[in-house]
Amino acid sequence: MIAEKLAVVQENINKACKNAGRSPKEVTLISVSKTKPVEMLQEAYDAGARVFGENKVQEIMDKYDQLPSDIEWHMIGHLQRNKVKYIIDKVSMIHSVDSLRLAETIEHEAAKKNVCMPILIEVNVAEEESKFGLKTEEVLPLIEEIASYSHIKVMGLMTIAPFVADPEENRSVFRKLKKLSVDIAAKNINNITMSVLSMGMTNDYQVACEEGSTMVRVGTGIFGERNYSIKED
Ligand SMILES: *Cc1c(COP(=O)(O)O)cnc(C)c1O
Repeated sequence: MIAEKLAVVQENINKACKNAGRSPKEVTLISVSKTKPVEMLQEAYDAGARVFGENKVQEIMDKYDQLPSDIEWHMIGHLQRNKVKYIIDKVSMIHSVDSLRLAETIEHEAAKKNVCMPILIEVNVAEEESKFGLKTEEVLPLIEEIASYSHIKVMGLMTIAPFVADPEENRSVFRKLKKLSVDIAAKNINNITMSVLSMGMTNDYQVACEEGSTMVRVGTGIFGERNYSIKED
């Protein structure tokens, strides 16, 4: 069941890349497993998934110990500074950095563990009130500050596009994030790369692939609907 869904999503990514003249190898599929039990993650793992996305620190810690160690965990949700220490040596990437204070904490905790944390800057491209993330014009100033940190590596940008009925409505959002990353890359800032664009979810990952996404975060399309009334925290 999960194996089939994973295969369908991968096939859709392949098609979207082909449409856009891109290689599907440029796109990493992140299986977003938040709220789902470890049995389902294991099923995805057995079907070949190795990259999982979670949005809660506690959930990463619980699942981390129960699943194979070659899984790459990605923190994709809003991160509180006091919780950075719990995941700093567990996750491969933090997608949701949206303030200098959070970056400072990551730098501090990464230094303590002697690791260098790959991060993305979260951009609220559509400027939705309800969403975390920086405004477009706030991104470069933050990146210029973080560039001097030796335990953080800025790899690119992330956005959560609005929930829309027709994924085409988000094409302009993805284009704006891509343009921002190209503009920042052109500045050749030391220690900064813009090789990762984390954009596209179940509803709109094909459009995101056509517009240059390198990481799509797909939950519902792989694991089915989430039921928040059963598992709350
Ligand atoms: C939940 C979540 C996703 C996955 O959403 P789906 O619509 O289920 O694919 C992707 N990105 C982030 C940041 C999320 O919190």
